[in-house]
Amino acid sequence: MKRIVCVLALCGLVSVVGCKPAVTTGKDAGDGGTEIGQWRVHDMDRSAPEVVTPGATSCQAPSDAIVLFDGSDLSQWQDTKWVIRDGTMESVKGAGYIKTKASFGSCQLHVEFATPANVKGNGQGRGNSGVFLQDEYEVQVLDSFDNATYPDGQCSALYGRAVPLVNVCRKPGEWQSYDIIFHRPLFDGDQVVRKATFTILQNGVLVQDHVVLKGGTQWKGGHAVSEYVPHEDKRPIAFQDHGNPVGYRNIWIRELDD
Ligand code: MG
Repeated sequence: MKRIVCVLALCGLVSVVGCKPAVTTGKDAGDGGTEIGQWRVHDMDRSAPEVVTPGATSCQAPSDAIVLFDGSDLSQWQDTKWVIRDGTMESVKGAGYIKTKASFGSCQLHVEFATPANVKGNGQGRGNSGVFLQDEYEVQVLDSFDNATYPDGQCSALYGRAVPLVNVCRKPGEWQSYDIIFHRPLFDGDQVVRKATFTILQNGVLVQDHVVLKGGTQWKGGHAVSEYVPHEDKRPIAFQDHGNPVGYRNIWIRELDD
């Protein structure tokens, strides 16, 4: 029995006088001769993570996020003809892309979107928009609910590059979410020395699993696939106007270190 209680104490489950845990606090915590990089295993001198207050639900912005759109105004965005309708930021045919005033590099981005409830068109002509990281790399937004198109251009695709793992689209008009973890490409002169990576959850389901983006995401259009073109470390987030009225709401971003 004594041995069982001591094991529980070592796991921090009970406190027992006279049964000294081998791993507690201070520098003793890392003793044991095992090292990971500059730290010992369980090293208490290692910096603890910053405390961040989560949103009330997993889709609400945590305390360290930059809110790009909360339904009230477009103050975080460059001049645009996009409109706000019932707390939703909506694309307007012919208005062009909407872009953030601020620029970003690697990031975690939360976006909610809805393609038109009034279904029109087929394939790439149905609820087409797009979330562009660094104003360059497109995560496709499309009504892919019972709407066939080329798989590397359906909703959640890295356009022209990577097919999503599953089609988890909701019905037209229903709100959907993207949670995107993006690490920007690194350039040395005119060479890309680290390609961009994407991990994406659509509606909470993994659809892109740490995918290395091989190059640009432009429409092929009969031309050779595009290669990386060096650009600034930080560039705006942009949403595409593709002629269909797609709505966006609850947009927030957390910047990530490289
Ligand atoms: Mg698009």
